[in-house]
Amino acid sequence: MLVLGGGFGGIVAAERLAKELGDEHQITLLSRSRRFVFYPALVRLAFGKCEPEDVSLDLRESMLSRRINFIEAEVARIDPQERKVTIAHGEVEGKLPYDYLIFALGRRLATERITGFYEHAHHLLNVDKALEFGKAIAQFHEGRAVIGQCPGARLPVPVYETAFALAHLLEERGERANTRITIVSPDSPGLQFGDSDVTLALRNALSAHDIEFRPDLPIDQVTAGAATTSNGHGITFNLLMLLPPFQGSSAASYLGITGDESYINVDSAMRVIGAERMYAVGDCVNFSGPKMGHMAVRQAEVAAANLAAEIRGHAPVSNYVHEMRMVIDEGGSDSIYVHKDIWTNEPASVRQGRFWSWAKRVQEKYWEASHS
Ligand SMILES: Cc1cc2nc3c(=O)[nH]c(=O)nc-3n(C[C@H](O)[C@H](O)[C@H](O)COP(=O)(O)OP(=O)(O)OC[C@H]3O[C@@H](n4cnc5c(N)ncnc54)[C@H](O)[C@@H]3O)c2cc1C
Repeated sequence: MLVLGGGFGGIVAAERLAKELGDEHQITLLSRSRRFVFYPALVRLAFGKCEPEDVSLDLRESMLSRRINFIEAEVARIDPQERKVTIAHGEVEGKLPYDYLIFALGRRLATERITGFYEHAHHLLNVDKALEFGKAIAQFHEGRAVIGQCPGARLPVPVYETAFALAHLLEERGERANTRITIVSPDSPGLQFGDSDVTLALRNALSAHDIEFRPDLPIDQVTAGAATTSNGHGITFNLLMLLPPFQGSSAASYLGITGDESYINVDSAMRVIGAERMYAVGDCVNFSGPKMGHMAVRQAEVAAANLAAEIRGHAPVSNYVHEMRMVIDEGGSDSIYVHKDIWTNEPASVRQGRFWSWAKRVQEKYWEASHS
């Protein structure tokens, strides 16, 4: 059993397989880095509320105790006919055979689609970039901070959490009166979460912190001091944090198993459509809506259960339901919890209060404690 990718999806899939299957089955987890990064903590890292060592752990050590081999390498090529994955580590290349494959390669950041992104925009989607953005925050004392998503970014939580954290910080520093915070979104109001109750709760929380919201601004170009759209609209900034467009992993894009934006097509049993002995989980799969860690975890549980059943010659035993369970941590009583079934599109259930901020931190501690 070969699991590609050492994020939430890959780790949980490998752990569940190790639990489900006996010692005669070898489970290998392969990832380009031996460090697992707990992404939801990166906003707090950027704001100096935790240290880099608090948001990552060593996969090789934590997998050993779970009977899982860990290999640190890059996936170079996949050959489904021969059932081999070509991997590279530094100068060394090799082929790894598999009987069953689980893709958990996350998403690729398509920064090249936004002209000037690399030179002029900050983001916080890895440890180094979060720390760099933290330095820019320390130097921001007046003018406008623009925070938002490019079209296709599909991750609203850190945008709102950054805006709230910045508002708190500027208030503490006594600099709020000299500054404006504007969130930009490519979507129309209400579309972002597909639910009017969520939009209303967010709007109220934003206005309580005097944070502006500019919808319908699909930014595709950034210069020093301005972010613009192809139809001539734009916004000026003194500080910019923008999530670039996401795409599926390029490691799967030539296999004929991907759909829009190179995301892998799967059924609700998490089997790759049109392929045998392949499953896919997490940000790399072609499901609608935001890309979130709790979805990757649930999909990994479903894939592992069904793969174990397939090995035993049984039909799938578990089905994935595409639900969003999201906490936007405002840092206090305006924190918001949203639960929505994306496939049925029933109205979301929305809760608000300090409890959700606390619950999110507890969940983070639980994950750390159970994997270190
Ligand atoms: C700042 C931030 C805040 C977030 N907040 C939340 C939140 O509050 N709640 C929530 O549910 N979700 C949140 N998310 C989203 C969540 O982190 C992702 O949905 C989750 O990480 C997806 O897990 P994954 O396993 O699919 O992919 P990833 O975690 O991206 O893991 C993919 C793995 O594959 C490896 N890999 C990729 N390509 C290759 C290759 N070619 N060869 C070898 N290895 C490769 C990568 O190194 C990585 O280890 C947040 C994300 C960010 C960035």
